[in-house]
Amino acid sequence: MKKAIIVGSGAGGATVANELQGSFEVTVVEAGREFRPFSRDLSAAAKWKKFGLFFDEREIGLLFPTMRILKTKEMILVRGRGLGGTTTISAGNALRLDADLKNLGICLDEEFEAIGREIPISVEHEKHWRPVTRRLFDICRDLGLSPWPTPKMGEYARCRHCGRCVLGCPQGVKWDSRRYLDSALARGARLISGGRVTRVIIEDGTARGVEVRLGRRKKTLAADLIILAAGGLGTPLILEKSGIACRARLFVDPVLCVAAEWNNSGLDRELTMPFVVEKDGYIISPYFDFLSFFFNRRWSYPSGDIMSLMIKLADRPEGRISSRGIRKTLYPEDRARLDEGVALCKDILSRLGIPKEKTFLGTINAGHPGGMLPLTERESVSFHHPALPENVFVADASLFPQSLGKPPILTIIAMAKRVGRICREQMS
Ligand SMILES: Cc1cc2nc3c(=O)[nH]c(=O)nc-3n(C[C@H](O)[C@H](O)[C@H](O)COP(=O)(O)OP(=O)(O)OC[C@H]3O[C@@H](n4cnc5c(N)ncnc54)[C@H](O)[C@@H]3O)c2cc1C
Ligand code: SF4
Repeated sequence: MKKAIIVGSGAGGATVANELQGSFEVTVVEAGREFRPFSRDLSAAAKWKKFGLFFDEREIGLLFPTMRILKTKEMILVRGRGLGGTTTISAGNALRLDADLKNLGICLDEEFEAIGREIPISVEHEKHWRPVTRRLFDICRDLGLSPWPTPKMGEYARCRHCGRCVLGCPQGVKWDSRRYLDSALARGARLISGGRVTRVIIEDGTARGVEVRLGRRKKTLAADLIILAAGGLGTPLILEKSGIACRARLFVDPVLCVAAEWNNSGLDRELTMPFVVEKDGYIISPYFDFLSFFFNRRWSYPSGDIMSLMIKLADRPEGRISSRGIRKTLYPEDRARLDEGVALCKDILSRLGIPKEKTFLGTINAGHPGGMLPLTERESVSFHHPALPENVFVADASLFPQSLGKPPILTIIAMAKRVGRICREQMS
C-alpha cells in the first residue's frame, strides 16, 4: 500500500487522515502533543493578574500549552498547537460557508451530507441558556437584528454552560477533530506528535517525503503522497521552505469585544457564542474574552461581573506570513466596519441600561487565519495548485478564496474530505 504523510491534526489534517487511512498507510505528523483543557480556576488566575504576573499574551502558552500567540502591531493571532489543532480551543460553532466556493463552481453537497452523518450538530444548548443570554437575545430581536442560536458541533444536551469552550471543554461535550484522528488511528494510522515538519523534500518535481524536527533531531520521512494541513499560518511556512511561493492573501477574521461592568452577568459561565447577529461583513455574538480578561488592563472587573459582545470581521484578504515574520494590518474599510460594529454593540448594551461611555474595548485578536493558497476556478475540480508537485496537496484554511468573518471549521472539513476523495481516486 502507498504511504501518505499528513502534516497537522487540526480540522483539515484529521479529516484527511480519516478519509485516507485504509487506502494509504497514513502517518500524521503533528507539531504539538496531547491536548489538555485549561484546568485552573479563573479566580486564581485573576489573582495572578492582580499581582501583575500577566503582561504579554504570549505567556498564555506557559499556562495553557495548546494556545499559541503571534503578535503584530495591531492584533494578536491565536492558534492551537496539539492533537486536534485549533479545533480543541474553538467555540464549537458549526456553519456551512461555501458560497465563495460555489462561485468557483465547487459543489460540496456530498461532503456536507457526510459531515451531517458523522458530527452531531444542533442548537440544543438554547434550552438551557442563562438569563443574561436570553435577555441579550431578546434585545437583539427587539432591535430588529434577527439573532439566531448558533449551531454547535457536539452533544450539547450534556453541556454544563461552564463557559470554558475556548479553553478546551472539560466535559467532552464539544466535538473536535481528535474524533476523526482517533478513528484513523484505530484503523492503523500512525501518529508522530511533537514533530515539526520544516519542508517537503522535492526531487525532479516529485515530493519524496518531508523533513521533520523532533526536538534537536532532524529526520526524513519518505512518502508517496503528502498532504499539508498545518493551518493558515503553518502551511505557508512549510511551502516557503520547500521553494513554493504562496500568495499574500492572508486573512485572519479579527475579533474585537465591547465590554462593560455588569454585576453578576454570568457571561463567563455561559457557553461561548450562544447566538449570532449577522451584519454585512461582520457578526456580533456574546463572548467572554479570556485573553482580554487576563492581559488587558481595561478588563479590571471580576470575571463574573463583565458583560461583553464580540465583533468578528471578514477582513480584507491581504497579508502574509513568511520566515521574515508576519505582515497583517487593518485597512480603512476593516476599521470602518469595526467602528460600525462597536456602535451597534454599544446600542445593544445600552438597552441593558449600560451608558455608552462606560463601555470599554478588548484587545483585537484573531483566530481564523487562511487564504494564502486560495482555490481558484482553475483548481475547482482538481483541488491541486499547479505550483505544487503532483503528489502534494493542501487541505486546510489556506484554500479559502476569501475571508469568511465566520467560523470556518465545517467548511474546512468539507474541503479536506474532497481532497481525501481526490487522492483516494487518483493516487492510491
Ligand atoms: C479561540 C478560537 C475559537 C474558534 N472557534 C471556532 C468555532 O467555534 N467554529 C469554527 O468553525 N472555527 C473556530 N475557530 C477557528 C478554527 O478553529 C480554525 O480556523 C480551524 O481549526 C483551522 O483548521 P486548519 O486545519 O486550517 O488548522 P488547525 O486546526 O490550526 O490545525 C493545524 C495543525 O497543524 C499543526 N502544525 C502547524 N505547523 C506544523 C508543522 N510545521 N509540522 C507539524 N504540524 C504543524 C498545528 O499544531 C495544528 O495542530 C476558532 C479559533 C480560535 C482561535
Ligand atoms: S459550556 Fe462548558 S460544557 Fe458546554 S461545551 Fe463549553 S466547555 Fe463544554
